[in-house]
Amino acid sequence: GTLSIAAILAETARRRPDAPALHFMEQTITYGDLWNQTRAYAGALAARGIGPGSRVAMIIPNVPDFPRVYYAALALGAVVIPVHLLFKTEEIRFVLEDADADLLIAAAPLLGEAAPAAALADIPLLTVLTPAGHKLQDQPIARLEEEAEKATPIERHASVNPLAPATILYTSGTTGTPKGAVGSHLAVIEQVHTGLLDTFEYRPDDVLYGGLPFFHTFGQTVVLNAGFRRGAAIILLPKFDPDEALALLLRHKATVFAGVPTNYAGMIAAANRTPDRPPLRFAISGGAALPTALLEAFETAYGAQVHEGYGLTETSPVASFNLVSEPIRPGTVGKPIWGVDIAIADAETEGRIDLLPNDTLGEIVIRGHNLMKGYLGRPDATAAAVVDGWFRTGDLGTVDAEGVIRIVDRKKDMIIRNGYNVYPTEVEAVLSRHPAVSLAAVFGVPHDEHGQEVHAAIVPAEGADPDPAELIAYVKAKIAAYKYPRAVHVVESLPLGPSGKILKRELQRLYGG
Ligand code: ATP
Repeated sequence: GTLSIAAILAETARRRPDAPALHFMEQTITYGDLWNQTRAYAGALAARGIGPGSRVAMIIPNVPDFPRVYYAALALGAVVIPVHLLFKTEEIRFVLEDADADLLIAAAPLLGEAAPAAALADIPLLTVLTPAGHKLQDQPIARLEEEAEKATPIERHASVNPLAPATILYTSGTTGTPKGAVGSHLAVIEQVHTGLLDTFEYRPDDVLYGGLPFFHTFGQTVVLNAGFRRGAAIILLPKFDPDEALALLLRHKATVFAGVPTNYAGMIAAANRTPDRPPLRFAISGGAALPTALLEAFETAYGAQVHEGYGLTETSPVASFNLVSEPIRPGTVGKPIWGVDIAIADAETEGRIDLLPNDTLGEIVIRGHNLMKGYLGRPDATAAAVVDGWFRTGDLGTVDAEGVIRIVDRKKDMIIRNGYNVYPTEVEAVLSRHPAVSLAAVFGVPHDEHGQEVHAAIVPAEGADPDPAELIAYVKAKIAAYKYPRAVHVVESLPLGPSGKILKRELQRLYGG
């Protein structure tokens, strides 16, 4: 059989050519126009020899050229490698070489880092959004738009094996060197269909917030691919700014918001500065634990329920979700989505999976249609991660008799103080309840006597001037003595990865020595 991610755009364009696909700046682009532009891009890429199995790397923010390039490469049967937008030359070069990319397509504003990376990796570079006649170190730049004008558009997308590689998505590197998770067409399409049938339940007249970066699995699958499969409209926002996001949500009458917890903190603050509210039906959170205080504050500010889910790059990404059609259970990540099994295994045993009974704390393991094919070129890492068909997530949590999943924390983020385990997420949830706190991050720093010490960094709430000693006393009164932070650092902003997640290793570096 044949089944391609490119069909998501092609089929919607065939059925709803005049429906709006994208809102970007002053433009609205219909599905019909977007597919025509994509066919032209594909024609230009084909003229450069890109075809089935080629590897096309792209470094493009959330602008209309992201979907054009993404679906054009997939329509040719090529594998796409969307690169992190914040990567510097050496990091981009690492991905290009690790993934053995044949071509890099970079947006003009990112050429400063991307062009030297392509040169070092010795692969051709194409640009989008680059003004005609623009030169780079006196060399003319090859522009995809210009090549597309001369090329013959493809008629239809290539026929591909649904299990063939479609994407290589590098894990965010929150905890270490990025690894390329190879995803198939089938995994993404299953995610999208399961999502639309009984997880998110988008409607064709929905207007989705599209500020989650599309190079990351969350925005790519849950917003771009699921939204396009349904024929909904997506509001593009290349760089997250809460006030701008709220203005766009209002202007385009957004009905669905999707974000990581740091986005929620920003949106809550923005709501204090504007009385108007968009007509949101619901909101989706994932990528990191959403403190219940943030969930409640967002629901109060926007009058829309927040549905939290859980997933990883390796699981395409959604593994569990608080279904839109069911009452949510705050503080949990819901139940496994259709066709996916989630269980708890002994976190200590290696090389085999020892499943544990309900309500026991252990490592979350996942199996199902959403699982990656493996880590590119890393058979050892793949064999360590996938055992008997179960994927070891590195996350600690529990599953109850009803199948409801609670995440306790990442194994790697757990702090061991005097031999006691401290789970940062729990301490963050307490800190987030304090009215002077907007965002909290708890992390361990090396300590001679205790092994590790508990530290926190917090961003104050709008207009607040929190006293670290008072915050420490506040947490101390609410949880066991070994858990409360011994130091609270008040900061203007937290170090965030490109998907908006807090980078704890950056905090450890800043405050650890
Ligand atoms: P790397 O693997 O490179 O360190 P990363 O773990 O951030 O980066 P992602 O695939 O983006 O890579 O994130 C997956 C992780 O995000 C999960 O393993 C989990 O720790 C965390 N996560 C996702 N959703 C939730 C959630 N709802 N609650 C708590 N943690 C979550």
